[in-house]
Amino acid sequence: MKIPTFSIPIIEIPLQKNIQLFLKREDLIHPKISGNKYWKLFYNINSYLDQNPENPFLITFGGAFSNHIAATAALGKEFKLKTMGLIRGEEIQEKWQENPTLKLAHQNGMNFRFVTREEYRDKDSLTQILLKEFPEALIVPEGGTNELAVEGIQFMLDSYTKSFDYLCTAVGTGGTIAGISKFAEENQQVLGFKVVDDDSLYNKVIELSKRNNFKLLEAHDGGYGKISDDNIRFINDFKEKYGIQLDPIYTGKMMKKIFELIEEDYFPEGSKILAFHTGGLQGIFGANEMLKKQNRELIKL
Ligand SMILES: *Cc1c(COP(=O)(O)O)cnc(C)c1O
Repeated sequence: MKIPTFSIPIIEIPLQKNIQLFLKREDLIHPKISGNKYWKLFYNINSYLDQNPENPFLITFGGAFSNHIAATAALGKEFKLKTMGLIRGEEIQEKWQENPTLKLAHQNGMNFRFVTREEYRDKDSLTQILLKEFPEALIVPEGGTNELAVEGIQFMLDSYTKSFDYLCTAVGTGGTIAGISKFAEENQQVLGFKVVDDDSLYNKVIELSKRNNFKLLEAHDGGYGKISDDNIRFINDFKEKYGIQLDPIYTGKMMKKIFELIEEDYFPEGSKILAFHTGGLQGIFGANEMLKKQNRELIKL
């Protein structure tokens, strides 16, 4: 059974200015799978299944709250592949049941190996060891980013996305923006909202997309995974106003920055902007547990 393609609705976020802002709801693909992770795994899994492996087995890497880990486990269950996650941080080994992302991934059939941060950093050696142990396995890198992932992102673009001047996405490992950049129209400007403070991203994206039609803007708001009070307020207001749930790690940070840019007249009058809602909503559960422990305002669900 292979992973299917389908088309996704685009909806308008009404503004008081002569600028049109739309959201493409990749989050609607699946409640537990970030939309972009689905497309990043699309060719990776389908081309692997095309080889008819005897015992399909997918191994990948991630942090304890990773949307990619959640997506891999859920897709593994749906498309009948065994999955294993190499999780950063040995200390989680004792208490992974308390982590909503890992708990759900496990319910979806994923097994884990917990590795130290040092081992995790040296993913090339880890991959070599895994390949020896599991020669038939499909090994997908952290965040799912590789060349096949970039190809899969083409399904986020279709005849309806062609009329937009700007295409916006949150940027973690850079695979999603690389795909949008690669498959964008000649006249489209691609904007990436970096939620990770990582200077190597620009070169990584160019290498994957082979185009320079994109800009990377800072949107990390204190660092990857950090959740400010402003961020929470923005997400809760956005939900109340527009009825759309954002996540605190990616899409909330991107939309907040897009609103700031609109406020600063960054976009010329008459611009048509399309932002991709890449999902990530599973991360809210883990975020809220942390916020609760800190006695802070929660993200409304
Ligand atoms: C992973 C993720 C991103 C970033 O994608 P990259 O390809 O790693 O840059 C954006 N949004 C959500 C919700 C994600 O889960």
